[in-house]
Amino acid sequence: MAIDFEVEPEFQKLLDWTKDFVTNKVAKVDLLWPHDTYKDMTAQQAAIINPLKQEVRDMKLWACHLGPDLGGQGYGQLKLALLNEILGTSRWAPRIFGTQAPDTGNAEIIAHFGTAEQKERYLKPLLDGDIVSCFSMTEPQGGADPGIFTTSAVKDGDHWIINGRKVWSSNARWAKFFIVMVVTDADAVITEKMTMFMLPAETPGIEIQYNFGMAGEGPEDTSEALIKYNNVRIHESAILGGVGQAFAVAQTRLGGGRVHHAMRTVGNAQRAIDLMAERALSRYTKGQLLSEKQSVQMMLADSYIELASFRLLVLHCAWKIDKLNDYKLVRLDIAAIKVQTARVMQAIALRAIQLHGAIGTSQELPFMGFLNSGIVLGLADGPTEVHQITVARQMLRKYKATDSVWPSALIPNLTAAAELELLGESFTQIVPEN
Ligand SMILES: Cc1cc2nc3c(=O)[nH]c(=O)nc-3n(C[C@H](O)[C@H](O)[C@H](O)COP(=O)(O)OP(=O)(O)OC[C@H]3O[C@@H](n4cnc5c(N)ncnc54)[C@H](O)[C@@H]3O)c2cc1C
Repeated sequence: MAIDFEVEPEFQKLLDWTKDFVTNKVAKVDLLWPHDTYKDMTAQQAAIINPLKQEVRDMKLWACHLGPDLGGQGYGQLKLALLNEILGTSRWAPRIFGTQAPDTGNAEIIAHFGTAEQKERYLKPLLDGDIVSCFSMTEPQGGADPGIFTTSAVKDGDHWIINGRKVWSSNARWAKFFIVMVVTDADAVITEKMTMFMLPAETPGIEIQYNFGMAGEGPEDTSEALIKYNNVRIHESAILGGVGQAFAVAQTRLGGGRVHHAMRTVGNAQRAIDLMAERALSRYTKGQLLSEKQSVQMMLADSYIELASFRLLVLHCAWKIDKLNDYKLVRLDIAAIKVQTARVMQAIALRAIQLHGAIGTSQELPFMGFLNSGIVLGLADGPTEVHQITVARQMLRKYKATDSVWPSALIPNLTAAAELELLGESFTQIVPEN
């Protein structure tokens, strides 16, 4: 029997170390600089954070999403899931452990598709955590349908000239390079229509027109950019993965990214439940602890059940990725956890807010941030509805239509067939086909 829910003792020790390290060291950095995880570090920040990064490296926990050939540990997705549950509870932990989105996804595609020169130039500093990067795909007229992207490039000798606009290009203002998805053959089928270009941030013609903020971000922290690409002239060696290959490159990136978000969300949702439990055991009303009220017990129970099922789905998906080593074969599982990531986070955050009363809605506690992340996770990397469609399409592949006008489970017909087979004669009248 191969199903085994135990964690190897050696890895459990690393998880215990990580939990202690994040709770007692990294959480303090979160409190000091909650909005700075993508910015260049100040000297003061570097003096505190670089030694923490070194501790992570010494424990062999740096960049655990990558194989040893790329400076990672090669633990695989299942172990990464357990680790990310802990890192997900902190803003700075992903950067301090070298697993910060969207840089992880960007690193993965450069590792998969990059030339030796591209890897040397972009991958090494990215993996060392020295720079951050930007993935520029979504356009103002729509993100969920890549078929309507219009940012395009025309060939000019051994160069390409890019024109168009992108939006929601996260962290553009701090990024050292941009990975941009561009139409290079408007008449081709969607899977061959676009090409991925890697542009150094200083390339002439990249104009950040506007930086806008997510809820809770101040003017200095606005992380989302509207970018205009104005006659950006770039050598063909900037192409990542070949002309017309952008769709395949994006799928590779988004597959892993969605799973990693789900892993981190498990940690955040668990934290919300832990705090709900503390509140329920601490707060009295009408002479009773909240924990003694049935409606509160239902909130706690539903939260536990939803998170426990979601966690199993995430772990199973991670296990399948390790086993099959091909994101395409795990599309259904990834789409399913993408849908649940948003739902579970939203539902548990809402209950945590309700249980804490007014203070739950304030900036004094993390729950509005959790709720916001649940809402964002229902949109970023593709809206929930699109992933529901993927789940339905993928699951339907395992089924076929009946050739009868009646459902195959029609009891009288099945009974008649069983009687014929087991008793030699049928007594039940079948429902006629015509
Ligand atoms: C915090 C954050 C960070 C992001 N970072 C990046 C980034 O770094 N780079 C980047 O390129 N993009 C990024 N995005 C953009 C994100 O990928 C898009 O928001 C997403 O793909 C949806 O596109 P849209 O917002 O244009 O919504 P639309 O495509 O306009 O969709 C809006 C709504 O329409 C409905 N809908 C859409 N399609 C369907 C369908 N097929 N069937 C049924 N209903 C449908 C859904 O309800 C959907 O929510 C980020 C988004 C957020 C919120």
